[in-house]
Amino acid sequence: MSITLCRCDSGKPFARCCGPFLAGQEQARTPKQLMRSRYTAYALGGHGDYLIRTWHPSTLGPVTADSLDDASLQWTGLEILDDDQKGDRGRVDFKATYVDAEGRTHIHHEHSAFLRVQGRWLYLDGKMRDVITDQGSSA
Ligand SMILES: [Zn+2]
Repeated sequence: MSITLCRCDSGKPFARCCGPFLAGQEQARTPKQLMRSRYTAYALGGHGDYLIRTWHPSTLGPVTADSLDDASLQWTGLEILDDDQKGDRGRVDFKATYVDAEGRTHIHHEHSAFLRVQGRWLYLDGKMRDVITDQGSSA
C-alpha cells in the first residue's frame, strides 16, 4: 500500500494529518491544525464545502463551495512561520506558494485569525500580502 504524504508539507501521511479533518471525522484541535487542513483543502481542490464549514459566518461573505475551488491555481507549498493561541482566539502566520493560470509563482503571506465557537475552530479573517516571485515562462 502506498502512502500519500499530506499536501500541507507536514511530512505525515494524509490519513494521519489533514485527511480526518477534511472527511469530517475529526475536529482540528488547534488553530494551526485548522489552518493546515484549510491549505490542504485548497491544494487538493473539491473541498469547498470544508472551507465554508470552517469559516466564521460573520466574515464568510456570499461565496459558494464551487467558487472556493479555484482549479486554475496550483498550490505548491506551505510554511508556517508562527502560531499562537490564547483561550478561544488563535492566529497563524504562514506563507503559501502557488502558481496561477498564467504560470506565475506567487507567495501568499497571511496572518490569519481564528476563533473557537462551541468547541470548533473557525477561520475568521486574515491580513494578506501576495507577491509574484516568478513571472513564469509564458510572460
Ligand atoms: Zn496535513
